[in-house]
Amino acid sequence: MESNNPNILLIYTGGTIGMVKNPNTGALKSFDFNNLLKRIPELKLLTCNIETVAFDEPIDSSNMNPNYWVQLVTIIEDNYNNYDGFVVLHGSDTMSYTASALSFMLENLAKPVILTGSQLPIGDLRTDAKENLITSIQMASLLYRNRPVIREVCLYFEYKLYRGNRTTKINAEHFEAFESLNYPHLAESGVHIKLNSEALFSPNTRKKLVVHKAFDTNIALIKLFPGISGAILESLLKTPNLKGVVLETYGAGNASNEDWFIQPLKEAIKNNIHIINVTQCSGGSVNMGQYETSSQLKNIGVISGKDITTEAAITKLMYLLGEEISSKTFKTVFETSLRGELT
Ligand code: ASP
Repeated sequence: MESNNPNILLIYTGGTIGMVKNPNTGALKSFDFNNLLKRIPELKLLTCNIETVAFDEPIDSSNMNPNYWVQLVTIIEDNYNNYDGFVVLHGSDTMSYTASALSFMLENLAKPVILTGSQLPIGDLRTDAKENLITSIQMASLLYRNRPVIREVCLYFEYKLYRGNRTTKINAEHFEAFESLNYPHLAESGVHIKLNSEALFSPNTRKKLVVHKAFDTNIALIKLFPGISGAILESLLKTPNLKGVVLETYGAGNASNEDWFIQPLKEAIKNNIHIINVTQCSGGSVNMGQYETSSQLKNIGVISGKDITTEAAITKLMYLLGEEISSKTFKTVFETSLRGELT
């Protein structure tokens, strides 16, 4: 590797960005990663050294799970000291979950980990893949006094760099597929790359990287809707080994205040099941106690997810359960921002 240029590790996990069409069926499937680089000769023009590593079997991100997250952070951990930044190519469908998970797994991260992908395959005439990939690499290469400028897990898509654990996929067709409604963009790419320096995460650089790999998946996501049945709620809450629930409520964290709804939740909390209140709205925050329809939730000990996304709430819950945080402090720790995931 050339000495003065930043060293970037490009990690290919799969997704549309590296897919080709099966000429017979028209279905998209992954292809050999080496072909991906051949298709972007422009990468050679960048003033950084790029090395690549790929999953043995690239996956559609709909098959993503915590075992792959461990595989991914292990690649980053093993190569941490040899690179200035990491770019992860990933399917867009579950990219926000992976970005959130990685943010919790990589404590004291002091280098950029930028996830990107595309809506159209790299070989497509109108592809968004090239811009996403090239700009992600440029952003991961930004150094100031020989130290990375971006020191957190990010997601780059369609001219915008976001804090990864603040994002949600909001569109299945538009190139602008992601949004971060409760946190400003970290950077925008136009004629120049404009950094929003104030929004960037400042890790404690005196502390060493700590990699967390134990995720506990004994959790559930329950989205409320008018007409949800008490019997279904009860049966979900009585699932064997259940340890936590992300409850998607209405508006500012509101839900029915009737007994059929509150009693099973109260019982679950008594049985040490953590209940996290997040809003179904794409933007804004839970504020338990603002309305009568959320006061009961507060009184029985439901945890406030504040303005966290569902993706970050799910992965934070799996992470904290894996860390075996004591029941006494669980609520306080969950309600605290660990990686800038809530305000
Ligand atoms: N289904 C694909 C995936 O998430 C879509 C994409 O890559 O954007 O892997």
